[in-house]
Amino acid sequence: MAEPQKGNLSDTERQVLQVIASGDVQELAQLLASEEVRVNCLDEYGMTPLMHAAYKGKADMCRLLLQHGADVNCNQHEYGYTALMFAGLSGKTDITSMMLDAGAETDLVNSVGRTAAQMAAFVGQHDCVTVINNFFSRARLEYYTQPQGLEREPKLPPTLAGPLHKIIMTTNLNPVKIVMLVKENPVLVDVAALEKCYQVMDLLCEQCVKQQDMNEVLAMKMHYISCVLQKCLTFLQKRDDKLDALVKSLLRGRDSDGFPQYQEKFIRDCIRKFPYCEATLLQQLVRSIAPVEIGNDPTAFSVLTQALTGQMTFVDADYCATCGEKGADKRCSLCKAVTYCSLMCQKLHWFTHKKICRSLQEQDADLEKDTPRLKELKDDESDLVMETANFLQELCMRAEEKVAAAGGCPVELLGCPSNSVTGPPGTQKSFD
Ligand SMILES: [Zn+2]
Ligand SMILES: [Zn+2]
Repeated sequence: MAEPQKGNLSDTERQVLQVIASGDVQELAQLLASEEVRVNCLDEYGMTPLMHAAYKGKADMCRLLLQHGADVNCNQHEYGYTALMFAGLSGKTDITSMMLDAGAETDLVNSVGRTAAQMAAFVGQHDCVTVINNFFSRARLEYYTQPQGLEREPKLPPTLAGPLHKIIMTTNLNPVKIVMLVKENPVLVDVAALEKCYQVMDLLCEQCVKQQDMNEVLAMKMHYISCVLQKCLTFLQKRDDKLDALVKSLLRGRDSDGFPQYQEKFIRDCIRKFPYCEATLLQQLVRSIAPVEIGNDPTAFSVLTQALTGQMTFVDADYCATCGEKGADKRCSLCKAVTYCSLMCQKLHWFTHKKICRSLQEQDADLEKDTPRLKELKDDESDLVMETANFLQELCMRAEEKVAAAGGCPVELLGCPSNSVTGPPGTQKSFD
């Protein structure tokens, strides 16, 4: 069949576009059954029905069009927009995922050289950016479930592919959350299984660095997950209380202010151990984190999350103090200062939160006595968020200049004594 030409639409095809704009999915199904409809027909601007449906945010219609063979990577739009770009612009994460699952290329660019993720970021659809940046096809992981070359066994037992893929796809990089994902799958809570999983993650990390279009973001994520899995492995081997002990270590706050310094040091350490020293992303991360004293903002977690998912962890959402899930809506009833996503998370946190809960209550009471001051704080909240965001950016830039001036591998910056990642030999043990 001839390539569809722009604007060369049959009457039924025009009807298809109208139904996508204002009709329902049943009508669309009837029209698509007609032989007069080419599913990849193009309107005057080079938009396919799938692009229209994605842009309008109609998930059912997108699914139907894909079932009818819509080409997810059609690139005939006058400005080079793809269906994935339209999905990102619509702000619908379900449609964005659907396009990715259907094989949408993430690195295609439009006529001004922007990818779908960049387009979505440009219009403030950060959840879609996150979905795109964190996409990893199940097929790419399943490659390792087949023996390759002379291997007698595959690198990854097929039963582990599902649970591991779920971890890879997480957009919440809180190490506690990742340990929870391991814990919820009995097949993963096993030394041999974790060993295989982290080795495959290391291979994927290498692949992401060495592939033609190097994907440093994905490489860092693979490496980070590998580090968390290795930590789980260590705890499984050495401790009786296993992964619960790891969760406790990650949550335990220091006496002075409850800041979880083991977690902070762990994340810094993961970043520092990234094996490809020349990666730009690594250098950026190190420069953002190295000058920050442990306990101050930004935390390594927020810097890493922003770099890997494009999300600011401190903007417009309540995060669970335990697992970092977004949209946590349960508060500690005593201090009302910390939020949780579930009762389970609150229980997990209590052993350490109880040490500072009272002083948080007192702070709260002080504020209530002084109502004008409370009001003032609220007014300033948005300024604070902006200030923090600006601060983060400035930190990156300043550190970049510093390292450029000094030359050499910025990883060494992390080793400076005031905020050493590994700590003196004596302290390391008490953390593990
Ligand atoms: Zn939680
Ligand atoms: Zn409390």
